[in-house]
Amino acid sequence: MKRILTIVLAVCMVMGLLGCSEKEQSLQIIAMDTAMTFTAYGKQAEDVLQDASTEVRRLDKLLSRTNESSLVSQLNAAEGNKVAVGQEVAALLAASAAYTAATGGAFDITVAPVVSAWGFTTDSYHVPAQKELEILLERVGMEKISLTEDTAALAPEMGIDLGAIAKGYASDRIAELFREQEVQRGWAALGGNVLAWGSRPDGKPWVIGIQDPANPNDGTAYAGMIQLESAFAVTSGSYQRFFEENGKIYHHIIDPATGYPADSGLVSVTVVAAAEPGNGTMCDALSTALFVMGEERAVEFWRSGSYEFDMILVTEDGRVVISPGLEDSFTVEGGYVCETVS
Ligand code: AMP
Ligand code: MG
Repeated sequence: MKRILTIVLAVCMVMGLLGCSEKEQSLQIIAMDTAMTFTAYGKQAEDVLQDASTEVRRLDKLLSRTNESSLVSQLNAAEGNKVAVGQEVAALLAASAAYTAATGGAFDITVAPVVSAWGFTTDSYHVPAQKELEILLERVGMEKISLTEDTAALAPEMGIDLGAIAKGYASDRIAELFREQEVQRGWAALGGNVLAWGSRPDGKPWVIGIQDPANPNDGTAYAGMIQLESAFAVTSGSYQRFFEENGKIYHHIIDPATGYPADSGLVSVTVVAAAEPGNGTMCDALSTALFVMGEERAVEFWRSGSYEFDMILVTEDGRVVISPGLEDSFTVEGGYVCETVS
């Protein structure tokens, strides 16, 4: 939690310092297991921030796997029975299924039982036995979920974990509130999920620091800075949640193909896309998926053009690989070598 707070504060500092002039309102909350900051400018600012906070808390109650009374927990406990989840959650599950199909299974919310076996849901971390992982992996697979427009049924003993997409979905909802209430400028940081809305009051782009994965506890250590206007930027990193056992580090992004933390050669992935409806969710799903894929597959996926996005990959061997759309807006820092894919 302390680390998450550092990251959020770093984002806030960079954005705040470069903001200025016009009247700014800000609100900080803890929700979805992370520290969040919402900032808006103009006369609607106070109201929209309250609405954003209410909305995120509503989603937390609906989607959290660690809250026993949430809808997702009810679905996970339903032992194979059909649950009336409502259209909103059914649509998010359908979107998740589409990202699983598009990413060749790198993104998969049904990896939940495996995530639990590693202790990431309870903070009681340990390395599971290979045999246990093999049994749990048999319960993983989006095709085992039956979905209708407003119901869902999991196979018995399955589970879902929306941790890799819920904050992105929440950032989409915040963008929706900003749009409806005609907020001209502002930003929201939900852990590693950032929405840059409009531009700064001085007309220049917002500036977001990409945390240096090699210095996760230093909120002023960056692998780079990106300038953004009306965009989402979502980062998945192995430094964001991990534990150590017998001198080895195990992080929270699981490769559904092996049941082990993805050992893909990447330490951080940021996905950037225009602040258009659905793109917050897309950036969140894809940042997790590209992390699992690793550099080569991630670049291939980006080249395929199935989704319109830009990316920043930080590799274990000290490189920062960006897509060409970010060439003018990204500045590398922290001694990394920057390469642009073509
Ligand atoms: P993120 O920080 O968005 O990359 O999401 C990571 C979180 O999503 C983890 O803490 C798990 O709860 C869950 N998760 C881990 N691996 C995967 C995966 N391959 N696909 C979907 N969700 C995952
Ligand atoms: Mg994600």
